[in-house]
Amino acid sequence: MQLRHVDAGSCNGCEIEIAQAFAPVSDAGRFGARLVASPRHADGLLVTGVVTKNMAVPLQMTFEATPRPRVVVACGDCAVSGGVFAGAYGVVGSVRDVLPVDVEIPGCPPEPSEITEALRRLTGR
Ligand code: SF4
Repeated sequence: MQLRHVDAGSCNGCEIEIAQAFAPVSDAGRFGARLVASPRHADGLLVTGVVTKNMAVPLQMTFEATPRPRVVVACGDCAVSGGVFAGAYGVVGSVRDVLPVDVEIPGCPPEPSEITEALRRLTGR
């Protein structure tokens, strides 16, 4: 399962935990998950942050550039529900307001083990 990460408006806390999910202790790569540099090489998107007005269109374009079938993972409370930024002036909404979401990972931020567990549900390993 190859995933293109998109930060749609994160505080960067979720990115730190994603980095740890792919570091040696959690090592999501062991279970068949991998981050890739291009949506054209991806099976889906790993989206963090509330969707800001500036990132709504780039997020949709990245989704369209991802070959079908594709999955969308919303990582962190902001991506799942808007979190602490819900209703802010520069915000469109949660990821679900912009894209079809397949997997949600709640938490602010979610722990690396929770991210890895969610990705394992996708990879089946
Ligand atoms: S869920 Fe928490 S850690 Fe993640 S982007 Fe939102 S505020 Fe930051």
